[in-house]
Amino acid sequence: MANEKIPYKIYLDENELPKQWYNVRADMKNKPAPLLNPGTLEPMTFDELRPVFCDDLVAQELDDTTPYFDIPQEIQEFYKMYRPSPLVRAYCLEKALDTPAKIYYKFEGNNTSGSHKLNSAIAQAYYAKKQGLKGVTTETGAGQWGTALSMACSYFGLDCKVYMVKVSYEQKPFRREVMRTYGASVTPSPSETTQVGRKILAEHPGTTGSLGCAISEAVEAATTQEGYRYVLGSVLSQVLLHQSVIGLETKAALDKYGIKPDMIIGCAGGGSNLGGLIAPFAGQMLRGEADYRIIAVEPASCPSLTRGRFAYDFCDTGMVCPLAKMYTLGSGFIPSPNHAGGLRYHGMSSVVSQLYHDKYIEAVSVEQTAVFDAATKFARVEGILPAPESSHAIKVAMDEALKCRETGEEKTIVFGLTGTGYFDMVAYEKYNDGVMSDYIPTDEDLAAGFAGLPKVDK
Ligand SMILES: *Cc1c(COP(=O)(O)O)cnc(C)c1O
Repeated sequence: MANEKIPYKIYLDENELPKQWYNVRADMKNKPAPLLNPGTLEPMTFDELRPVFCDDLVAQELDDTTPYFDIPQEIQEFYKMYRPSPLVRAYCLEKALDTPAKIYYKFEGNNTSGSHKLNSAIAQAYYAKKQGLKGVTTETGAGQWGTALSMACSYFGLDCKVYMVKVSYEQKPFRREVMRTYGASVTPSPSETTQVGRKILAEHPGTTGSLGCAISEAVEAATTQEGYRYVLGSVLSQVLLHQSVIGLETKAALDKYGIKPDMIIGCAGGGSNLGGLIAPFAGQMLRGEADYRIIAVEPASCPSLTRGRFAYDFCDTGMVCPLAKMYTLGSGFIPSPNHAGGLRYHGMSSVVSQLYHDKYIEAVSVEQTAVFDAATKFARVEGILPAPESSHAIKVAMDEALKCRETGEEKTIVFGLTGTGYFDMVAYEKYNDGVMSDYIPTDEDLAAGFAGLPKVDK
């Protein structure tokens, strides 16, 4: 089909959908460093993780050798309700930019949760149900993960308790109501309902919260209630495994038309959509079969890859979680409250961190007004109203396409359009009113976060 005109949207048939997830760790020579027990500094064992996560998910988390995991039939069936997601050829954007580059985006916003997070939420809810649990607890920042998880839990009849970062709880009442409509209970974090929440409130009265605080509260709520486990929407290797469905579909769609991308671009918060999108391509690079430029895009206000340290750190503010080796700004880092664009986690997936450290991935940081410039331009020509997070990838894809206009190169660019921005209208309003500002942390701001890194010689 190589000479056929590429359609606006490349879909896959139902029988072409992935039946297995791909675990990129199996092909990594330098494996991501193991999670450590914060008390003993020894690698976390299966038994130590079982009180926190479902058994099957612990097994996935600890497995860095099995390349493929079967996607259970029930999850494949749920995926069929909203997958495959389209791979769109951005003809209109190419024309608007007057670029010879060929731009494609994998659009994950075609489900009610509005993002890729449902791909892992349904998997995690499935394993909780299979284990006979009553319910799960979690944190949510901008609200997409909490929404996806409440949809997944209602599908399997599980209780869902969401700790929502306070600033988002207040700024995004509609997001909160979607979660409640799907039956979840939503608590603003930090809250008085947990020990760790009370401690954080006592130390930082009036704090607007952070993902790190909300994680601590959700973990405490799971481990102190019978029949509950904690689930996380990003960062963990199990989440990247589930999100590999994005990359596998993308690769299958490109292969159908004989297209080989030159670069693959994704936004990076905790690293799950990026890790999932690039998984099969990174696998080819790791096995020496192909070469691509892979670019992670992060906000200049929360620059974990471009300005962080590669070190063991706490995954949460309350320091109740295992230590992970990752690019991090320190678990005490809280991005400036005027940062509107999501992607505010202090660390990064240890898989993405290791691939970046080993130079398989490049990283760039971008400022939020430039991100909203790109988002607006994209919305006006491609129709989709993008999530601010996704717009980080749009911004860099557009920059790369403009470079091709200068050089005349017909590069093929693939980027991840992770979701829609309907619940981000407070941020768009600021942008439209011209009152959005860029805050880039100073070296002193970052030094405060680094000072809180645990001392680990590994
Ligand atoms: C959560 C989210 C992200 C960032 O999370 P990753 O784990 O880095 O993928 C990006 N885009 C959207 C729309 C999200 O909801």
